[in-house]
Amino acid sequence: MPFFSSRSITYSPAYTIVPTYECFNRCTYCNFRTDPGNDSWMSLSTAKNIFKRLQNQNVCEILILSGEVHPNSSRREKWFNLIYDLCELALSMGFLPHTNAGHLSFEEMQKLKKVNVSMGLMLEQITPYLLQTVHKHAPSKNPELRLQQLQWAGELKIPFTTGLLLGIGETEQDSWDTLTAISQLHQNYQHIQEVILQPHSPGTQQSFDAEPFNPHQLPEVIAKAREILPEDIKIQIPPNLVKDKQWLLACIEAGARDLGGISPIDEVNPDYPHIQENELREMLHPRGWDLVPRLPVYPQFDGWLSGDLEIGVKRWREEFGILLFPN
Ligand code: SF4
Repeated sequence: MPFFSSRSITYSPAYTIVPTYECFNRCTYCNFRTDPGNDSWMSLSTAKNIFKRLQNQNVCEILILSGEVHPNSSRREKWFNLIYDLCELALSMGFLPHTNAGHLSFEEMQKLKKVNVSMGLMLEQITPYLLQTVHKHAPSKNPELRLQQLQWAGELKIPFTTGLLLGIGETEQDSWDTLTAISQLHQNYQHIQEVILQPHSPGTQQSFDAEPFNPHQLPEVIAKAREILPEDIKIQIPPNLVKDKQWLLACIEAGARDLGGISPIDEVNPDYPHIQENELREMLHPRGWDLVPRLPVYPQFDGWLSGDLEIGVKRWREEFGILLFPN
């Protein structure tokens, strides 16, 4: 896109909806989940009211972020259909859906591709060691399942976002191995659009008793990730988890170029409110960085979309061009 330059830092004007907080996994660092059966699921009419309110507010991406219902549960189909219907509704009301609903089957991904411009799943860390610790009661965090899902995304030509969670008991080498695995998958399928580097940031609901990932180490990790990952994969950092302005700027100098979805609440880290657009712009501008909105799908993947997804993306590309170049 002509309006992006080498000094552009992107973000996605987004809103997160949560079909359900219930999750059969129990990652010990989780600040999101409730026990199965303890959460009423979002209804389509509630979602419709939210979407109506968001229209004409320049919100482009609807991030559908869900806890997981067990693949063998009799409620799995109902859960999946709700996610599909929420995506379809968001799309029909002019938004661009991006779903991250944890581990999905090939068939589920194939169906969701029809109503999502891109999808996501954090790889987190590929070391199996974490299955004995933070993921001891989280079967869908098995790294083999996650790698398989990233491969399926490539086979299905789904533009994909993944990432690492840093500071959950991994070694430095584990992180480099995880980045290498992402890089290899991308070389086979060319489908990874961005990699999130998310520092563990303790919240009030988690049982995992560990220090936050040291934000001072993040620029170093970003620089190494930049060496390992192919150039066409963008590195994303969540600015609300790197609160200090100097360290945020250091992360950008080290190679981070995207700040992810900026919405009223960070559902995964509810104790860390998002920094809003104007504040970010004020931080970046004096150092010569421009903050520019982007879509949840990167331009090189537009040719993978068809039908309503293609029409919606085309409309938003024009809209963002107008926002960036007002008369
Ligand atoms: S981190 Fe995700 S998968 Fe793990 S318990 Fe929380 S919602 Fe479930």
